[in-house]
Amino acid sequence: MASLLSIYCPKCEQHTELSRRGSPVITNSSSIYQIAGCNACAQHFLLELRDIGTLKIVEIHPKALAGKPHPETPDFIKADLKEALDCFSVAAYNATGVMARRILEKCCKDKGAPEKENLRGQIAFLQKDGIITKDIKKWADAVRLVGNDGAHSNEHPVTHKDAEAILELVKQFIQVVYITSKISEKIISESTKKENNK
Ligand SMILES: [Zn+2]
Repeated sequence: MASLLSIYCPKCEQHTELSRRGSPVITNSSSIYQIAGCNACAQHFLLELRDIGTLKIVEIHPKALAGKPHPETPDFIKADLKEALDCFSVAAYNATGVMARRILEKCCKDKGAPEKENLRGQIAFLQKDGIITKDIKKWADAVRLVGNDGAHSNEHPVTHKDAEAILELVKQFIQVVYITSKISEKIISESTKKENNK
């Protein structure tokens, strides 16, 4: 079937179109279900449609798919970040919080924070040592606090909103502390080489 449905694809994260695969199924509850594939990345989805004429999408399953860590993410935290993203995609928000906190712990250790300190003290060390700014320290503290809730709290389980926010913060933390500095170091080293050759 050639009919196209436009969506924001949760897999390839772009506005794209779906092509219907096979015939729609109409259930007793008058919902219409249709399998469709993304024209950009070929991921398949189950769509719940309002009516067969307009094909308006009511729901798309799965709603979210696990993202991928940035390719320049350092190896020692890449698997943990992938796991945090996987946890989020299956709505395991406490686990997302725990994984985000674990990434932060590893980054603190990697940047030389004293092991005798707790995570709060280690984050403060990174700021004192000039590795992170005051603002990034706030991001790290937010990840630490939500991660604590994810690990220990019955009263404050991590919500979708919190998990989404700290995942973004931890990704930004990695971006600033590792990825961006790697890119700038590369540019500086190449420019220095050129200068020396003049
Ligand atoms: Zn796609």
